Amino acid sequence: MKVYNSLSRKIENFKALEQGKVTMYTCGPTVYNYVHIGNLRTFIFYDTVKRALKLNDYKVKHVMNITDVDDKTIKGAIERRMSLKEYTELYANYFIEDLNKLNVDMDTKFTKATDNIDEMQKIIVKLVKEGYAYEADDGVYFNVSKFKDYGKLSGMKVDGSYSRIKNDDYDKENASDFALWKYWDANDGEAYWKGELKKGRPGWHIECSAMSMKYLGKTIDIHCGAVDLIFPHHENEIAQSESYSKQKFVNYWLHAEHLLVNGQKMSKSLNNFYTLKDLEGQGFNPLSFRLMAIDSHYRNKLDFNFENLRKYEKLLAKIDLSIKALNKVEKYEEKEDNYSRVQTKQKVEKVIELFKEAVNNDLNTHEALQHFLSLLDLADEKTKKGKIDNNEFSVLSTAISKANDVLGIYIDYKIPEEIIALAEEREQKRREKQFIEADLLREKISENGYSIADLTGTFVITKKYLD
Ligand code: AMP
Ligand code: ZN
Repeated sequence: MKVYNSLSRKIENFKALEQGKVTMYTCGPTVYNYVHIGNLRTFIFYDTVKRALKLNDYKVKHVMNITDVDDKTIKGAIERRMSLKEYTELYANYFIEDLNKLNVDMDTKFTKATDNIDEMQKIIVKLVKEGYAYEADDGVYFNVSKFKDYGKLSGMKVDGSYSRIKNDDYDKENASDFALWKYWDANDGEAYWKGELKKGRPGWHIECSAMSMKYLGKTIDIHCGAVDLIFPHHENEIAQSESYSKQKFVNYWLHAEHLLVNGQKMSKSLNNFYTLKDLEGQGFNPLSFRLMAIDSHYRNKLDFNFENLRKYEKLLAKIDLSIKALNKVEKYEEKEDNYSRVQTKQKVEKVIELFKEAVNNDLNTHEALQHFLSLLDLADEKTKKGKIDNNEFSVLSTAISKANDVLGIYIDYKIPEEIIALAEEREQKRREKQFIEADLLREKISENGYSIADLTGTFVITKKYLD
């Protein structure tokens, strides 16, 4: 498997620290509001990395942090007169809901910053003791000039003079000493911890170092984020972790490009964002956004607009129909291998090989999706004939599900019994040539959120998608 490593700025062959196992840490959301679909593009990217690793038979240990203490969460909780815990849990739950709707593989250890304060303090104390960090009047700061490799990830120059940054809106242009621990002030309300350090709270960067090392070890295989995290967040994570452990922090740094709106980064501060709920409110299926995300390469910017999303909604409807039709079409048993069987098998094997090559080529999901669709074309050819040999069916459906295990764009679902009964009634009416009644039944089915497609010798019910 080849991936682009931001640290070496090269495509590299992936080699795990321990054979067959991967440790992976991904920077999660700050839960002060709903996440937007820009954030979600990045989380779909994490999911793709994990699924690609699993395709290559790795066992993946994946940790994602939830930032539940920082300037914004504290401010939000105070404004809403909620405790920090109540406030952040509210948005953390919405976040998990979004991941589920996007069919994200939840085989992940989610961990909150506030559940790992002791580990953060332990690291900070050692950094101070060894001279990497120092105390100022408002907190404890990391001394950037003490880490000789500072800038190795981002290429940021260090020139020997640094300002100090306490707040969480970090300077993206210059290196600065950054807060590891912020002493309490009146704006912090109830958000403080004691312990080995003076009453205060952690800075943002230290969270990820502490959680990554605690749950995955001092050196891990993969750390992911979006490109805006390279500097200063990830650069600072490296500085504090490696000063602490005297070991390499991460072997492969993977970064996804941004989701844009009209050429600008989607962000809460520019107020140009949509949430998944906004898309659903307009009638879109969340998976059409997933489809849009994986159809672009993660290292390319992706410009979002609704017209484009509509195309993916249509494609999603087509995918759903093809899979449902393949499952529904009549199966028959050929006694022995014939030309058609052999051909299907060969074609499918070739497509799966190409699919895997695309995925392993720095996660070329755009190309992988094309191969997935070509499997569905093969399926469509068969269903058009009105029946399929059992053996060909099993070859095709196994391949489709293997590819879908990586792309995650199809979730199987059950059609309610009442809808099936209505559809059968409609079929009966059609046979009796009572077309007006049949159409009324179709409408009723549609009002309930499903649609019917008539195929050779049968009909298929699917969810309803936007036209
Ligand atoms: P935040 O909650 O702001 O810390 O962001 C959570 C994750 O989403 C981080 O990895 C960010 O880099 C990422 N992110 C923020 N905005 C965008 C965007 N417009 N496109 C893609 N990823 C983003
Ligand atoms: Zn992080």
